[in-house]
Amino acid sequence: MKLSRYFLPTIKENPAEAQIASHRLMLRAGLIRQSSAGIYSWLPLGLQVLKKIEQIVREEQVRAGAQELLMPTIQSADLWRESGRYDDYGREMLRITDRHERDMLYGPTNEELITDIFRSNVKSYKDLPLNLFHIQWKFRDEIRPRFGVMRGREFLMKDNYSFDIDEASARHSYNAMFIAYLRTFARMGLKAIPMRADTGPIGGDLSHEFIVVAPTGESEVFYHKSFDDLDVMSETSDVNFDGDLQPLVDRWTAEYAATDEMHDATACDVPEAELINGRGIEVGHIFFFGDKYSTPMGALVQDNTGQKIPAQMGSYGIGVSRLVGAIIEASHDDDGIIWPEAVAPFKVGIINLRHGDEGTTGVCDDLYAKLQAAGVEVLYDDRDERAGSKFSNMDLIGVPWQIVIGPRGVKNGMAELKCRATGEKSEVSLDTVLDQFIG
Ligand code: ATP
Ligand code: MG
Repeated sequence: MKLSRYFLPTIKENPAEAQIASHRLMLRAGLIRQSSAGIYSWLPLGLQVLKKIEQIVREEQVRAGAQELLMPTIQSADLWRESGRYDDYGREMLRITDRHERDMLYGPTNEELITDIFRSNVKSYKDLPLNLFHIQWKFRDEIRPRFGVMRGREFLMKDNYSFDIDEASARHSYNAMFIAYLRTFARMGLKAIPMRADTGPIGGDLSHEFIVVAPTGESEVFYHKSFDDLDVMSETSDVNFDGDLQPLVDRWTAEYAATDEMHDATACDVPEAELINGRGIEVGHIFFFGDKYSTPMGALVQDNTGQKIPAQMGSYGIGVSRLVGAIIEASHDDDGIIWPEAVAPFKVGIINLRHGDEGTTGVCDDLYAKLQAAGVEVLYDDRDERAGSKFSNMDLIGVPWQIVIGPRGVKNGMAELKCRATGEKSEVSLDTVLDQFIG
Protein backbone atom coordinates (compact mmCIF):
# COMPACT_ATOMS: atom_id res chain seq x y z
CA MET A 1 0.00 0.00 0.00
CA LYS A 2 1.24 3.47 -0.88
CA LEU A 3 0.69 5.90 1.94
CA SER A 4 -0.19 8.65 -0.55
CA ARG A 5 -3.27 6.60 -1.50
CA TYR A 6 -4.09 5.12 1.91
CA PHE A 7 -6.97 6.35 4.04
CA LEU A 8 -5.07 6.97 7.27
CA PRO A 9 -6.34 10.04 9.10
CA THR A 10 -3.83 10.51 11.93
CA ILE A 11 -4.08 13.07 14.71
CA LYS A 12 -1.10 14.96 16.16
CA GLU A 13 -2.60 16.09 19.44
CA ASN A 14 -3.74 13.78 22.19
CA PRO A 15 -7.54 13.54 22.03
CA ALA A 16 -8.96 14.97 25.24
CA GLU A 17 -11.58 12.24 25.66
CA ALA A 18 -9.03 9.40 25.79
CA GLN A 19 -7.81 8.46 29.27
CA ILE A 20 -5.57 5.49 28.50
CA ALA A 21 -2.75 4.90 26.01
CA SER A 22 -4.54 2.40 23.78
CA HIS A 23 -7.58 4.62 23.31
CA ARG A 24 -5.36 7.64 22.58
CA LEU A 25 -3.20 5.73 20.14
CA MET A 26 -6.10 4.06 18.35
CA LEU A 27 -7.57 7.50 17.66
CA ARG A 28 -4.25 9.16 16.85
CA ALA A 29 -2.99 6.40 14.55
CA GLY A 30 -6.29 6.35 12.66
CA LEU A 31 -7.54 2.89 13.68
CA ILE A 32 -11.01 3.88 14.86
CA ARG A 33 -13.45 6.75 15.03
CA GLN A 34 -16.26 7.02 17.53
CA SER A 35 -19.74 7.20 16.03
CA SER A 36 -21.63 7.40 19.33
CA ALA A 37 -20.84 6.47 22.94
CA GLY A 38 -19.11 3.09 22.96
CA ILE A 39 -19.73 2.55 19.23
CA TYR A 40 -16.89 2.80 16.73
CA SER A 41 -16.13 2.65 13.04
CA TRP A 42 -13.05 0.68 12.17
CA LEU A 43 -10.89 2.50 9.65
CA PRO A 44 -8.64 0.52 7.27
CA LEU A 45 -5.62 0.30 9.58
CA GLY A 46 -7.72 -0.76 12.58
CA LEU A 47 -9.70 -3.25 10.53
CA GLN A 48 -6.52 -4.90 9.26
CA VAL A 49 -5.42 -5.54 12.85
CA LEU A 50 -8.89 -6.69 13.90
CA LYS A 51 -8.89 -9.24 11.04
CA LYS A 52 -5.45 -10.54 12.02
CA ILE A 53 -6.60 -11.09 15.59
CA GLU A 54 -9.81 -12.70 14.40
CA GLN A 55 -7.84 -15.10 12.21
CA ILE A 56 -5.56 -16.23 15.05
CA VAL A 57 -8.61 -16.80 17.25
CA ARG A 58 -10.25 -18.79 14.44
CA GLU A 59 -7.20 -20.96 13.77
CA GLU A 60 -6.83 -21.93 17.42
CA GLN A 61 -10.54 -22.71 17.73
CA VAL A 62 -10.37 -25.01 14.73
CA ARG A 63 -7.16 -26.61 15.97
CA ALA A 64 -8.93 -27.45 19.25
CA GLY A 65 -11.85 -29.06 17.42
CA ALA A 66 -14.46 -26.30 17.24
CA GLN A 67 -16.45 -25.60 14.06
CA GLU A 68 -17.35 -22.16 12.81
CA LEU A 69 -20.88 -21.03 12.05
CA LEU A 70 -22.47 -17.60 12.04
CA MET A 71 -25.53 -16.64 14.02
CA PRO A 72 -27.38 -13.35 13.51
CA THR A 73 -26.96 -10.23 15.64
CA ILE A 74 -30.73 -9.75 16.00
CA GLN A 75 -32.56 -12.41 18.00
CA SER A 76 -36.13 -13.14 18.93
CA ALA A 77 -37.11 -12.34 22.53
CA ASP A 78 -39.12 -15.58 22.70
CA LEU A 79 -36.00 -17.71 23.07
CA TRP A 80 -34.83 -15.56 25.94
CA ARG A 81 -38.20 -15.91 27.62
CA GLU A 82 -37.72 -19.69 27.53
CA SER A 83 -34.46 -19.48 29.46
CA GLY A 84 -35.82 -16.80 31.79
CA ARG A 85 -33.12 -14.33 30.84
CA TYR A 86 -35.32 -11.87 28.96
CA ASP A 87 -36.29 -10.34 32.27
CA ASP A 88 -33.08 -11.13 34.14
CA TYR A 89 -30.69 -9.48 31.71
CA GLY A 90 -31.73 -5.97 32.61
CA ARG A 91 -30.91 -2.75 30.85
CA GLU A 92 -27.67 -3.93 29.25
CA MET A 93 -29.86 -5.59 26.63
CA LEU A 94 -30.92 -3.51 23.65
CA ARG A 95 -34.56 -4.34 23.01
CA ILE A 96 -36.11 -3.75 19.62
CA THR A 97 -39.66 -4.02 18.30
CA ASP A 98 -40.18 -4.91 14.67
CA ARG A 99 -43.04 -3.67 12.42
CA HIS A 100 -45.26 -6.57 13.53
CA GLU A 101 -44.80 -5.54 17.15
CA ARG A 102 -42.66 -8.59 17.80
CA ASP A 103 -40.05 -8.27 20.54
CA MET A 104 -36.52 -8.64 19.22
CA LEU A 105 -33.15 -7.85 20.71
CA TYR A 106 -29.58 -7.21 19.63
CA GLY A 107 -27.67 -10.20 20.99
CA PRO A 108 -25.42 -9.55 24.01
CA THR A 109 -24.45 -13.28 23.88
CA ASN A 110 -25.82 -16.40 22.20
CA GLU A 111 -26.53 -19.24 24.66
CA GLU A 112 -30.26 -19.27 23.86
CA LEU A 113 -29.85 -19.17 20.09
CA ILE A 114 -27.24 -21.92 19.96
CA THR A 115 -29.29 -24.08 22.31
CA ASP A 116 -32.24 -23.66 19.96
CA ILE A 117 -30.11 -24.71 16.98
CA PHE A 118 -28.83 -27.66 18.95
CA ARG A 119 -32.20 -28.94 20.19
CA SER A 120 -33.70 -28.84 16.68
CA ASN A 121 -30.83 -30.73 15.08
CA VAL A 122 -29.06 -33.01 17.54
CA LYS A 123 -30.84 -35.94 19.12
CA SER A 124 -28.26 -38.57 19.98
CA TYR A 125 -25.11 -39.00 22.06
CA LYS A 126 -23.52 -40.28 18.85
CA ASP A 127 -23.39 -36.69 17.56
CA LEU A 128 -21.48 -35.51 20.65
CA PRO A 129 -19.20 -33.92 21.60
CA LEU A 130 -20.01 -30.83 19.58
CA ASN A 131 -18.34 -27.43 19.82
CA LEU A 132 -19.59 -24.53 17.68
CA PHE A 133 -18.13 -21.03 17.51
CA HIS A 134 -18.80 -17.78 15.76
CA ILE A 135 -17.18 -14.37 15.60
CA GLN A 136 -19.95 -11.82 15.66
CA TRP A 137 -20.78 -8.34 16.90
CA LYS A 138 -22.50 -8.05 20.24
CA PHE A 139 -24.32 -5.17 21.85
CA ARG A 140 -24.41 -4.47 25.57
CA ASP A 141 -25.69 -1.15 26.75
CA GLU A 142 -22.92 -0.73 29.31
CA ILE A 143 -23.59 1.91 31.98
CA ARG A 144 -20.12 3.36 31.48
CA PRO A 145 -18.65 2.65 28.08
CA ARG A 146 -15.04 3.84 28.29
CA PHE A 147 -11.45 3.35 27.26
CA GLY A 148 -12.38 3.12 23.58
CA VAL A 149 -12.86 -0.43 22.34
CA MET A 150 -11.94 -1.86 25.73
CA ARG A 151 -15.42 -1.36 27.08
CA GLY A 152 -17.58 -0.58 24.13
CA ARG A 153 -21.29 -1.01 23.71
CA GLU A 154 -20.95 -2.67 20.31
CA PHE A 155 -18.00 -5.05 20.26
CA LEU A 156 -16.72 -8.08 18.40
CA MET A 157 -16.66 -11.34 20.33
CA LYS A 158 -15.68 -14.88 19.53
CA ASP A 159 -18.11 -17.03 21.45
CA ASN A 160 -18.49 -20.75 21.40
CA TYR A 161 -20.58 -23.37 23.01
CA SER A 162 -19.75 -26.97 23.80
CA PHE A 163 -22.26 -29.80 24.10
CA ASP A 164 -21.40 -33.08 25.82
CA ILE A 165 -23.22 -36.15 27.07
CA ASP A 166 -21.76 -36.06 30.59
CA GLU A 167 -19.63 -34.00 32.92
CA ALA A 168 -16.40 -35.89 32.27
CA SER A 169 -16.65 -35.25 28.59
CA ALA A 170 -17.64 -31.60 29.23
CA ARG A 171 -14.51 -31.20 31.31
CA HIS A 172 -12.46 -32.34 28.35
CA SER A 173 -14.17 -29.73 26.14
CA TYR A 174 -13.43 -27.13 28.79
CA ASN A 175 -9.77 -28.15 29.00
CA ALA A 176 -9.42 -27.96 25.23
CA MET A 177 -10.67 -24.37 25.29
CA PHE A 178 -8.45 -23.56 28.26
CA ILE A 179 -5.40 -24.58 26.25
CA ALA A 180 -6.68 -23.03 23.01
CA TYR A 181 -7.13 -19.70 24.82
CA LEU A 182 -3.62 -19.64 26.20
CA ARG A 183 -2.25 -20.45 22.75
CA THR A 184 -4.43 -17.79 21.13
CA PHE A 185 -3.16 -15.02 23.39
CA ALA A 186 0.46 -16.21 23.26
CA ARG A 187 0.40 -16.10 19.46
CA MET A 188 -0.56 -12.43 19.68
CA GLY A 189 2.44 -11.72 21.85
CA LEU A 190 0.31 -11.42 24.97
CA LYS A 191 0.85 -12.96 28.34
CA ALA A 192 -2.59 -13.89 29.60
CA ILE A 193 -2.97 -15.46 33.03
CA PRO A 194 -5.86 -17.86 33.72
CA MET A 195 -7.60 -16.85 36.94
CA ARG A 196 -10.31 -18.74 38.79
CA ALA A 197 -13.64 -17.00 38.27
CA ASP A 198 -16.95 -17.08 40.05
CA THR A 199 -19.19 -19.98 39.05
CA GLY A 200 -22.23 -18.57 40.86
CA PRO A 201 -25.04 -21.05 41.58
CA ILE A 202 -23.49 -23.59 39.15
CA GLY A 203 -20.58 -24.24 41.51
CA GLY A 204 -17.47 -26.27 40.74
CA ASP A 205 -14.11 -25.10 39.50
CA LEU A 206 -14.80 -24.78 35.79
CA SER A 207 -14.71 -21.05 35.21
CA HIS A 208 -11.62 -19.03 34.34
CA GLU A 209 -10.96 -15.52 33.20
CA PHE A 210 -7.91 -14.82 31.09
CA ILE A 211 -6.24 -11.64 32.20
CA VAL A 212 -3.59 -9.54 30.50
CA VAL A 213 -1.59 -7.69 33.11
CA ALA A 214 -1.51 -3.95 32.45
CA PRO A 215 -1.48 -0.97 34.81
CA THR A 216 -4.63 0.44 33.19
CA GLY A 217 -6.66 -2.77 33.59
CA GLU A 218 -10.10 -2.52 35.17
CA SER A 219 -9.60 -5.28 37.74
CA GLU A 220 -7.09 -5.70 40.50
CA VAL A 221 -5.28 -9.04 40.29
CA PHE A 222 -3.15 -11.25 42.53
CA TYR A 223 -0.99 -14.02 41.09
CA HIS A 224 2.03 -16.13 41.75
CA LYS A 225 5.10 -14.77 40.01
CA SER A 226 5.72 -18.11 38.25
CA PHE A 227 2.98 -17.15 35.76
CA ASP A 228 5.42 -14.60 34.34
CA ASP A 229 7.49 -17.51 33.00
CA LEU A 230 4.67 -19.51 31.44
CA ASP A 231 5.89 -20.67 28.02
CA VAL A 232 2.66 -21.69 26.37
CA MET A 233 3.82 -22.17 22.79
CA SER A 234 6.69 -24.52 23.47
CA GLU A 235 4.66 -26.56 25.96
CA THR A 236 1.81 -27.03 23.49
CA SER A 237 3.70 -27.38 20.22
CA ASP A 238 2.57 -30.98 19.83
CA VAL A 239 -0.54 -30.99 22.01
CA ASN A 240 -3.09 -33.61 21.01
CA PHE A 241 -6.56 -32.24 21.68
CA ASP A 242 -8.04 -35.76 21.59
CA GLY A 243 -5.66 -36.93 24.31
CA ASP A 244 -5.75 -36.36 28.07
CA LEU A 245 -5.48 -32.60 28.63
CA GLN A 246 -6.00 -32.68 32.39
CA PRO A 247 -2.31 -32.91 33.44
CA LEU A 248 -1.43 -29.76 31.47
CA VAL A 249 -4.43 -27.82 32.78
CA ASP A 250 -3.67 -29.00 36.34
CA ARG A 251 -0.12 -27.75 36.00
CA TRP A 252 -1.25 -24.38 34.68
CA THR A 253 -3.80 -23.93 37.43
CA ALA A 254 -1.63 -25.17 40.29
CA GLU A 255 -0.42 -21.74 41.34
CA TYR A 256 -2.54 -19.01 42.85
CA ALA A 257 -4.14 -16.45 40.53
CA ALA A 258 -7.30 -14.45 41.25
CA THR A 259 -9.01 -11.20 40.41
CA ASP A 260 -10.18 -9.00 43.29
CA GLU A 261 -13.67 -10.55 43.05
CA MET A 262 -12.28 -13.98 43.93
CA HIS A 263 -9.19 -13.03 45.90
CA ASP A 264 -9.22 -14.18 49.49
CA ALA A 265 -6.22 -12.89 51.41
CA THR A 266 -6.72 -15.43 54.19
CA ALA A 267 -6.90 -18.40 51.80
CA CYS A 268 -3.97 -17.23 49.70
CA ASP A 269 -0.87 -19.05 50.94
CA VAL A 270 1.62 -17.51 48.51
CA PRO A 271 4.59 -15.96 50.35
CA GLU A 272 4.46 -12.20 50.01
CA ALA A 273 7.68 -12.08 48.00
CA GLU A 274 6.19 -14.39 45.37
CA LEU A 275 2.78 -12.75 45.08
CA ILE A 276 2.33 -10.12 42.42
CA ASN A 277 -0.41 -7.58 42.93
CA GLY A 278 -1.29 -5.60 39.82
CA ARG A 279 -4.08 -4.73 37.47
CA GLY A 280 -5.42 -6.63 34.50
CA ILE A 281 -7.62 -6.63 31.42
CA GLU A 282 -10.05 -9.53 30.94
CA VAL A 283 -9.61 -10.74 27.37
CA GLY A 284 -11.39 -14.08 27.67
CA HIS A 285 -13.73 -16.04 29.89
CA ILE A 286 -14.60 -19.74 29.85
CA PHE A 287 -17.43 -21.29 31.80
CA PHE A 288 -19.05 -24.70 32.29
CA PHE A 289 -22.71 -24.43 33.28
CA GLY A 290 -24.10 -27.94 32.85
CA ASP A 291 -27.81 -28.02 32.01
CA LYS A 292 -28.60 -24.38 32.85
CA TYR A 293 -30.04 -23.81 29.36
CA SER A 294 -30.54 -27.35 28.08
CA THR A 295 -33.06 -28.27 30.79
CA PRO A 296 -35.39 -25.24 30.56
CA MET A 297 -35.10 -25.17 26.78
CA GLY A 298 -35.47 -28.94 26.32
CA ALA A 299 -32.15 -29.60 24.60
CA LEU A 300 -32.23 -33.34 25.26
CA VAL A 301 -30.17 -36.11 23.72
CA GLN A 302 -30.57 -39.85 23.87
CA ASP A 303 -27.76 -41.57 25.81
CA ASN A 304 -26.51 -45.09 25.04
CA THR A 305 -29.32 -46.64 27.08
CA GLY A 306 -31.97 -44.80 25.09
CA GLN A 307 -32.79 -42.36 27.88
CA LYS A 308 -33.26 -38.67 27.02
CA ILE A 309 -31.01 -36.43 29.10
CA PRO A 310 -30.08 -32.73 28.95
CA ALA A 311 -26.84 -31.86 27.16
CA GLN A 312 -23.98 -30.61 29.35
CA MET A 313 -22.95 -27.20 28.09
CA GLY A 314 -20.12 -24.73 28.39
CA SER A 315 -19.59 -21.32 26.86
CA TYR A 316 -16.39 -19.53 26.01
CA GLY A 317 -15.80 -15.91 25.02
CA ILE A 318 -12.92 -13.86 23.68
CA GLY A 319 -13.14 -10.08 23.34
CA VAL A 320 -11.76 -9.78 19.81
CA SER A 321 -12.13 -6.00 19.54
CA ARG A 322 -11.02 -5.49 23.16
CA LEU A 323 -7.83 -7.38 22.26
CA VAL A 324 -6.76 -4.61 19.90
CA GLY A 325 -6.71 -2.25 22.87
CA ALA A 326 -5.16 -4.82 25.21
CA ILE A 327 -2.30 -5.50 22.80
CA ILE A 328 -1.57 -1.78 22.54
CA GLU A 329 -1.68 -1.40 26.34
CA ALA A 330 0.89 -4.18 26.57
CA SER A 331 3.02 -2.95 23.67
CA HIS A 332 3.62 0.77 23.08
CA ASP A 333 6.03 3.54 23.96
CA ASP A 334 6.00 7.34 23.96
CA ASP A 335 6.24 7.39 20.17
CA GLY A 336 3.30 5.12 19.46
CA ILE A 337 2.16 1.56 18.95
CA ILE A 338 4.59 -1.37 18.72
CA TRP A 339 2.71 -4.17 16.95
CA PRO A 340 3.75 -7.74 17.64
CA GLU A 341 4.45 -9.14 14.17
CA ALA A 342 1.59 -11.65 14.29
CA VAL A 343 -1.05 -8.91 14.38
CA ALA A 344 0.76 -6.04 12.65
CA PRO A 345 -1.27 -4.35 9.90
CA PHE A 346 1.90 -4.20 7.78
CA LYS A 347 5.13 -6.05 8.37
CA VAL A 348 7.44 -3.54 6.70
CA GLY A 349 7.36 0.22 6.14
CA ILE A 350 9.45 1.88 3.45
CA ILE A 351 10.41 5.50 4.00
CA ASN A 352 11.60 7.55 1.03
CA LEU A 353 13.59 10.39 2.61
CA ARG A 354 13.79 12.51 -0.55
CA HIS A 355 10.49 12.74 -2.39
CA GLY A 356 11.05 13.65 -6.04
CA ASP A 357 14.62 12.36 -6.11
CA GLU A 358 15.00 9.89 -8.96
CA GLY A 359 17.58 7.76 -7.19
CA THR A 360 15.78 7.24 -3.87
CA THR A 361 12.39 6.92 -5.54
CA GLY A 362 13.68 4.29 -7.96
CA VAL A 363 15.15 2.22 -5.13
CA CYS A 364 11.98 2.53 -3.02
CA ASP A 365 9.73 1.60 -5.94
CA ASP A 366 11.87 -1.46 -6.58
CA LEU A 367 11.87 -2.64 -2.93
CA TYR A 368 8.13 -2.05 -2.76
CA ALA A 369 7.50 -4.09 -5.91
CA LYS A 370 9.64 -6.98 -4.67
CA LEU A 371 7.95 -7.10 -1.27
CA GLN A 372 4.53 -6.97 -2.87
CA ALA A 373 5.41 -9.72 -5.33
CA ALA A 374 6.52 -11.88 -2.39
CA GLY A 375 3.23 -11.27 -0.60
CA VAL A 376 4.81 -9.28 2.26
CA GLU A 377 2.47 -6.64 3.66
CA VAL A 378 4.25 -3.35 3.09
CA LEU A 379 3.37 0.30 3.63
CA TYR A 380 5.37 2.66 1.44
CA ASP A 381 5.62 6.28 2.57
CA ASP A 382 5.89 7.91 -0.86
CA ARG A 383 4.41 11.24 0.24
CA ASP A 384 5.92 14.67 -0.24
CA GLU A 385 6.57 15.22 3.48
CA ARG A 386 9.50 16.11 5.73
CA ALA A 387 11.66 13.18 6.84
CA GLY A 388 10.88 13.94 10.49
CA SER A 389 7.17 13.64 10.04
CA LYS A 390 7.58 10.40 8.07
CA PHE A 391 9.64 8.90 10.91
CA SER A 392 7.19 9.90 13.60
CA ASN A 393 4.23 8.69 11.55
CA MET A 394 5.78 5.25 10.98
CA ASP A 395 6.62 5.02 14.70
CA LEU A 396 3.09 6.08 15.65
CA ILE A 397 1.38 3.39 13.60
CA GLY A 398 3.80 0.77 14.89
CA VAL A 399 4.96 -1.09 11.76
CA PRO A 400 7.51 -3.65 13.09
CA TRP A 401 10.27 -2.99 10.51
CA GLN A 402 11.21 0.22 8.74
CA ILE A 403 13.44 0.44 5.67
CA VAL A 404 14.76 3.97 5.30
CA ILE A 405 16.11 5.08 1.93
CA GLY A 406 18.02 8.36 1.53
CA PRO A 407 20.26 9.87 -1.18
CA ARG A 408 23.53 9.20 0.65
CA GLY A 409 22.66 5.57 1.27
CA VAL A 410 21.60 5.03 -2.31
CA LYS A 411 24.97 6.35 -3.51
CA ASN A 412 26.72 3.77 -1.30
CA GLY A 413 24.21 1.00 -2.05
CA MET A 414 22.96 1.00 1.54
CA ALA A 415 19.63 1.17 3.37
CA GLU A 416 18.87 1.71 7.03
CA LEU A 417 16.82 -1.01 8.70
CA LYS A 418 15.07 -0.14 11.93
CA CYS A 419 13.33 -2.47 14.36
CA ARG A 420 10.37 -0.63 15.92
CA ALA A 421 10.34 -2.75 19.09
CA THR A 422 14.00 -2.30 20.08
CA GLY A 423 14.70 0.94 18.23
CA GLU A 424 17.82 -0.73 16.87
CA LYS A 425 19.06 0.60 13.53
CA SER A 426 21.51 -1.08 11.20
CA GLU A 427 23.09 -0.25 7.87
CA VAL A 428 22.31 -3.01 5.41
CA SER A 429 23.25 -3.32 1.75
CA LEU A 430 20.42 -2.75 -0.69
CA ASP A 431 21.05 -6.22 -2.10
CA THR A 432 20.35 -7.99 1.18
CA VAL A 433 17.93 -5.71 3.00
CA LEU A 434 14.92 -7.78 1.91
CA ASP A 435 16.45 -11.17 2.77
CA GLN A 436 14.83 -11.38 6.19
CA PHE A 437 11.37 -10.66 4.71
CA ILE A 438 11.46 -12.72 1.55
CA GLY A 439 12.10 -16.35 2.37
P1 ATP B 1 -16.63 -7.65 31.80
O1 ATP B 1 -16.53 -8.19 33.20
O2 ATP B 1 -15.36 -7.02 31.29
O3 ATP B 1 -17.85 -6.81 31.59
P2 ATP B 1 -18.03 -9.99 30.97
O4 ATP B 1 -17.79 -10.92 32.09
O5 ATP B 1 -19.31 -9.28 30.87
O6 ATP B 1 -16.83 -8.93 30.86
P3 ATP B 1 -18.24 -12.09 29.00
O7 ATP B 1 -19.72 -12.06 28.97
O8 ATP B 1 -17.54 -13.24 29.62
O9 ATP B 1 -17.69 -10.73 29.61
O10 ATP B 1 -17.71 -11.82 27.52
C1 ATP B 1 -16.56 -12.47 26.96
C2 ATP B 1 -15.48 -11.47 26.62
O11 ATP B 1 -15.98 -10.39 25.84
C3 ATP B 1 -14.86 -10.80 27.83
O12 ATP B 1 -13.84 -11.61 28.39
C4 ATP B 1 -14.29 -9.54 27.24
O13 ATP B 1 -13.01 -9.77 26.69
C5 ATP B 1 -15.26 -9.21 26.12
N1 ATP B 1 -16.18 -8.12 26.49
C6 ATP B 1 -17.20 -8.17 27.38
N2 ATP B 1 -17.82 -6.99 27.47
C7 ATP B 1 -17.18 -6.15 26.60
C8 ATP B 1 -17.36 -4.78 26.23
N3 ATP B 1 -18.32 -4.04 26.77
N4 ATP B 1 -16.50 -4.26 25.31
C9 ATP B 1 -15.53 -5.00 24.75
N5 ATP B 1 -15.31 -6.31 25.07
C10 ATP B 1 -16.13 -6.86 25.98
MG1 MG C 1 -19.77 -7.30 31.26
